[in-house]
Amino acid sequence: MAKNDTRLIVALRCQVCKNKNYTTYKNKKLQDKLSSKKYCPVCTAHTQHEETKLK
Ligand SMILES: [Zn+2]
Repeated sequence: MAKNDTRLIVALRCQVCKNKNYTTYKNKKLQDKLSSKKYCPVCTAHTQHEETKLK
């Protein structure tokens, strides 16, 4: 394990179909949940994606 690893890999989940479409890095010190509009291939539209645990 790297000593200076402050980045956490999280998944971004579509709030419509609950599919995990993206993974992104997040600073571990950041408490806020990530949320952004991204393209969902399942919904075939841009939907709100929210941070969730990977796996
Ligand atoms: Zn979707």
